[in-house]
Amino acid sequence: MIAGGGDSAVDWAIALADSAAEIHVIHRREQFRAAPETSARLHELAAAGKIQLVIPYQLAALEGDGERLAAVIVKTLKGEERRIAADHLLAFFGLASKLGPINDWGLGAHNGVIPVDPSTGATSAPGVFAIGDIAGYPRKLKLILTGFAEAAHAAHAAYAVVHPDRALHFEHSTTAGVPIRES
Ligand SMILES: Cc1cc2nc3c(=O)[nH]c(=O)nc-3n(C[C@H](O)[C@H](O)[C@H](O)COP(=O)(O)OP(=O)(O)OC[C@H]3O[C@@H](n4cnc5c(N)ncnc54)[C@H](O)[C@@H]3O)c2cc1C
Repeated sequence: MIAGGGDSAVDWAIALADSAAEIHVIHRREQFRAAPETSARLHELAAAGKIQLVIPYQLAALEGDGERLAAVIVKTLKGEERRIAADHLLAFFGLASKLGPINDWGLGAHNGVIPVDPSTGATSAPGVFAIGDIAGYPRKLKLILTGFAEAAHAAHAAYAVVHPDRALHFEHSTTAGVPIRES
């Protein structure tokens, strides 16, 4: 049983279509937010009987013995109810960004994003750097690749904070090798 209509829900449904005995995708509306190609693939698999689309339903309750799931109860907005036997439920309802105490660090966090200098990852607090999805600047792309590049920028900038008296000699692991830490 897979709940949701975004990329994660659709990707998992497609990935499991060949190995799961049965897959039901519960979604509250006809349109999927997932990429058009994967949504089209989902509908192909549904037409081929490999995936059951449970639309327009939402999760209402779970049945089980406290240890194992037995069934999922789904409902429409009008209150129509279905009980579907299930062994596993994967729910994909998006990510909630909760910064917790970081919100109180005075970094100007807004909607889970901390403004940074994109060339260094430096926040408004000296010595505090932010990289990855949490770091914001104009035209930011929230991608793994971006996060890795930002990590390199921030590490170089942080080196100067940690070792103000040492020059940083830029090297590539291709030629200098990967540093091995003695344990
Ligand atoms: C459905 C989906 C598909 C994606 N596909 C791609 C893709 O194909 N290619 C690509 O490049 N990018 C993709 N991305 C984007 C990519 O996942 C992100 O850009 C990347 O994961 C960001 O890495 P991060 O380390 O900055 O943040 P995250 O991966 O979000 O990691 C942050 C971590 O911090 C933890 N955390 C949060 N708050 C606190 C706190 N207060 N204290 C302690 N820990 C905390 C979180 O639990 C989480 O583990 C996708 C994103 C989504 C949602």
